[in-house]
Amino acid sequence: MRYLLLSDVHGNWEAFKAVLGEVKNEKFDRVIFLGDIVGYGADPQKCCEQLKKLEPITVMGNHDAAVLRPELLSWFNHYARLALEWTAAHLSKSCLEYLASFPVRVKFDDITAVHSNPYKPESWEYILSKLDALFYIKKTSDRIILFGHTHIPVIYEYDGESVRTIKPDGNPFKLDIENKRYMLNPGSVGQPRDNDPRAAYAILDTDEMTFVVKRVEYDVEKAARKIIDAGLPRFLGERLYTGE
Ligand code: ZN
Repeated sequence: MRYLLLSDVHGNWEAFKAVLGEVKNEKFDRVIFLGDIVGYGADPQKCCEQLKKLEPITVMGNHDAAVLRPELLSWFNHYARLALEWTAAHLSKSCLEYLASFPVRVKFDDITAVHSNPYKPESWEYILSKLDALFYIKKTSDRIILFGHTHIPVIYEYDGESVRTIKPDGNPFKLDIENKRYMLNPGSVGQPRDNDPRAAYAILDTDEMTFVVKRVEYDVEKAARKIIDAGLPRFLGERLYTGE
């Protein structure tokens, strides 16, 4: 199977559209969405409708959860909270119902998909280092764990003792699935935070056993302007230019 991995779209229609245009040339069998279709960006409804059309395997992100359950808003910083309140008011009933259908964890073919971490997905704790990865990979037995949430593409490779961090470089990375286990993050479509403003997505090929992260230029200016014009925090638009 060739899976298209998407995560953290965050209501950024320009980025989402650019990725979908790019992947027309990629043969893939199924889309896996790793959470956070909404929050921060100015087009939550459009992104939600488009995601649904892709009929993906999905998991719940913390922003998706917070538009459904306002009691979770206290978890977020000021900017994110303002954006989430705005987002909740700009989603149709059918989109809210779609978000509510997302499970926090999905397992298939020795793969686990979550938004934050595979141990307690609803703690929304981040995996930001190889020590974090080691902690979580020891709590599971799956060969491949897919996650998002940090908005930083990464490969963590576990050899049974320690974890090695591999920064994706745009070339297919061969997974040594007989001997090792992996935690894979495709990066963020709509709000990259690895100092590369381009939208990120990944392809996981479970026949070839390869994982590749790709980047796509998109109309950052338009997405940023929409955020500011919508009255959302200016910072959320400005950060898109630098991918921070
Ligand atoms: Zn996110």
